[in-house]
Amino acid sequence: MPEGDANYRAAAELRTALVGKTISRFDASGMDGPSPQLGSAVESVVCHGKHIEMLFDDGIVLHTQTGFRGGWHLYHRGQKWRTRRHLARVIIETEEWVAVAFRVPLVETYREFDQTRHPRAGRRGPDLTNLEADLHECASRLFHYDKPNATIADAMLDSRVMGGITNVYRCEVLWSCGIHPWAKVSEVPQSTCLDLVLTSAAQLRANQYSPVRVTAPDVPGGLAVYGRNGQKCVRCGDVIRLTKMGELARLLYWCPGCQVGCEPYPVRDDSDPIARTMDSHPAGSQFIGDILRHRPAS
Ligand SMILES: [Zn+2]
Repeated sequence: MPEGDANYRAAAELRTALVGKTISRFDASGMDGPSPQLGSAVESVVCHGKHIEMLFDDGIVLHTQTGFRGGWHLYHRGQKWRTRRHLARVIIETEEWVAVAFRVPLVETYREFDQTRHPRAGRRGPDLTNLEADLHECASRLFHYDKPNATIADAMLDSRVMGGITNVYRCEVLWSCGIHPWAKVSEVPQSTCLDLVLTSAAQLRANQYSPVRVTAPDVPGGLAVYGRNGQKCVRCGDVIRLTKMGELARLLYWCPGCQVGCEPYPVRDDSDPIARTMDSHPAGSQFIGDILRHRPAS
């Protein structure tokens, strides 16, 4: 079998087993770069030929290159490994699975390139995991965000507003506060900005030393929306959606039924025959947005 095929199959297995799951162990001997935080979730697994990239929701990307003899194996916890342990270069564990990269010639990690997270893009906001962080300052940075057309969901991940928040918390906090992810940041009131920051800090701090994140104790699995696309929202019974959002296409889980706070309405464009036939319901505007974004260039 060509090496590329084996790699694509391995990536597909890793994706099925790991995406949306939080990691309880990350070991990579001799690796260059920062490690993902324990408790962060795997957001995607992508294969390009000999290269497999795994993105964690704290913005760390793990890049491995497989040679002729190396590759990724996936085991249930407790299952016997098919290759000797000392040949493992990367070991990642979740509650159910152990993913191991054996004899891979290249292992490195880097922070996902995101200009808004780049230190040179501006002074970083207070880190919410620090108990002395000034939460009112974070709220003020969010309220006075310098890109007024940005969505609240994008602004929340900007490290110039606040540090420590990962994609899982962004989704969970927006749900907790009932805020529409596409709300324009300039239209979110100051009190709501503070509510979002306080909720973010509370959720982050409650889970800081726990390998499994719980933000909604009444929901099986402990998360209200993250990883629950297609399932019922426990608050309103609507179906939770998954949408790729922003330039980096981060996964956004949200409930269209009850996250209606600061709900945006589409800009009316009568020249567009699709927009003319759609109503102004947010699901409709989201649909239009998806069509416009994915419209071929021709
Ligand atoms: Zn809901």
